[in-house]
Amino acid sequence: MSDGNDTIFGRILRGEIPSDRVHEDEHCIAFRDVAPQAPVHVLVIPRKHIPSLKEAQPEQEALLGHLLLVAAQIARQEGLEDWRTVINTGADAGQTVFHLHVHVIGGRPLAWPPG
Ligand code: AMP
Repeated sequence: MSDGNDTIFGRILRGEIPSDRVHEDEHCIAFRDVAPQAPVHVLVIPRKHIPSLKEAQPEQEALLGHLLLVAAQIARQEGLEDWRTVINTGADAGQTVFHLHVHVIGGRPLAWPPG
């Protein structure tokens, strides 16, 4: 049954395709990126389908804050002292999956600026 979220992350949320989950709660899940860019690369996604930060609404303020706190919790859980959190927003910024997600990337030195 589709709930209108036809993205790959919608399918992961519904359990239609597998994921290596490292966290789940009432509001979000987190799982390892299938193509990790660093030794630790985890994605934190809300259960609610928000396509990108562009569509985020003021009433989702608590949810958005929760995603960042969970990202920090996962980074610590993964043994990271320093890490990067990234939210790509829009195709030109590198967003390929249109279900809002926070990347947690770490475990190696990270250059700045990104490409
Ligand atoms: P973005 O480019 O910011 O939209 O990030 C999408 C991320 O999702 C990429 O880093 C992909 O490697 C990752 N990804 C795509 N499909 C899967 C999947 N089935 N399981 C885990 N990660 C995925």
